[in-house]
Amino acid sequence: MSAIFLKTLKPLKLAIKLLKLDKKKYQNLVKPQHIIVKNIPLKLTGGQIKNFKAYRVQFNNALGPYKGGLRFYPKIDLEEIKALALLMAVKCAVVNIPFGGAKGGVKVDPKKLNDQEIEELSRQWVRAFQKNIGPNKDIPAPDVYTNAQIMAWLADEYSKLVGHLEPAVVTGKPVENGGLKGRETATAQGGFYVLEEVRKKFKFKPAETKVIIQGFGNVGFNIAKLVYQAGYKIVGVADSQGGIYDLRGLGMNSQRLMAIKKARNHLHHCYCRGSVCDCGNYKKVTNKKLLVMPTDILIPAAIENQITQKNAYQIKAKVILELANGAIDPSVDKILSAKNVLVVPDVLANGGGVVVSYFEWLQNRQSEVWSESQVLNRLKEAMIKSFDDVWEISQSYKVDLRAAAYVLAVGRIVKAMKKHG
Ligand code: NAD
Repeated sequence: MSAIFLKTLKPLKLAIKLLKLDKKKYQNLVKPQHIIVKNIPLKLTGGQIKNFKAYRVQFNNALGPYKGGLRFYPKIDLEEIKALALLMAVKCAVVNIPFGGAKGGVKVDPKKLNDQEIEELSRQWVRAFQKNIGPNKDIPAPDVYTNAQIMAWLADEYSKLVGHLEPAVVTGKPVENGGLKGRETATAQGGFYVLEEVRKKFKFKPAETKVIIQGFGNVGFNIAKLVYQAGYKIVGVADSQGGIYDLRGLGMNSQRLMAIKKARNHLHHCYCRGSVCDCGNYKKVTNKKLLVMPTDILIPAAIENQITQKNAYQIKAKVILELANGAIDPSVDKILSAKNVLVVPDVLANGGGVVVSYFEWLQNRQSEVWSESQVLNRLKEAMIKSFDDVWEISQSYKVDLRAAAYVLAVGRIVKAMKKHG
């Protein structure tokens, strides 16, 4: 077993212990129910046939159909897919939606394929996995290097194979194909609702609260937009190329940063050129360094394994909102807790994405069209309730929020397993 899966198992095992469950009786809770590996042949436009390895890990479906992303990525690692499938199972249970957890991928570099080949690969994936997926069985969604268009192709191919329109087989589709307005920004929006609950508990005033965000893609940019609009002071941001830190603590305008990033490609160029905003006042830092700069709130919204034994002692934030999956090595939770850093774990903080995916699935199943405000209201309700549930458990068990979230999730999954007999 690789380190990544073992690390991800840790909080799950702790929850089993805290709930005093019989380890032997519930040993199936710590391993995937199905690991499906297939070879997908793809005819390239030049006529050559290439085979790609494809995976789907279905972790647990006690609460409902498996749910989780599908990535097209050259460095697919089965152990990582298993870890991500586990996180999905826990996340769905934390935010209390009737889905289990799964994850999948194709070992391919889509940047080396043209649009026609990507479409064909998507359709081939459905042909290969048709028996394993379905609106009541397993519902994929976009993930790394897959998007709404790919979801539309998956839904179309599945519908052709089953002989009727079945948009609920995937989520994250374009609005024209049964997708939901607001899905794109749902993860950041859900994280923001949770952050607001934390703010109320700590009685932070946004105007006096500094925020650092690592990652400036879908989740990072959208959370930056939301905290900026709410009056927080963004003092640092980073993308894969590097970061900037505002030594004056005045705060950065997220829209301006995005405009510069688009115009000049990478965030740190604005420090070098300094024309659109007052960039001359920003200090250029590496994205590693940014994580340990002074701030009240730190939001990792990029990639996994960013806060580890190597930098946990140097963290200065009072709160970490873990929007990226697995951004914090769970073995450093103790260090952070001893430093009085409140960690809002990924399985709670980024659950907004899957909540809205559930709304999309419901909309498709009930042939309804939901408005964006309906989506946002229900998302807010779901995120606040999930935060309150996790907070209450953390108080009664005297554990951190990650342990509490896993206790909540495992409790719900076990209850469902018992009902299934
Ligand atoms: P994205 O590809 O849109 O953005 C990723 C960002 O991270 C980019 O700006 C990239 O430049 C930056 N980045 C990459 N490596 C970096 C590094 N070493 N340091 C700093 N920045 C770096 O991806 P996304 O959809 O925003 O997802 C971000 C994270 O959130 C991932 O962990 C993803 O699994 C998680 N997540 C996303 C969703 C969603 O709905 N998009 C839902 C749940 C969880």
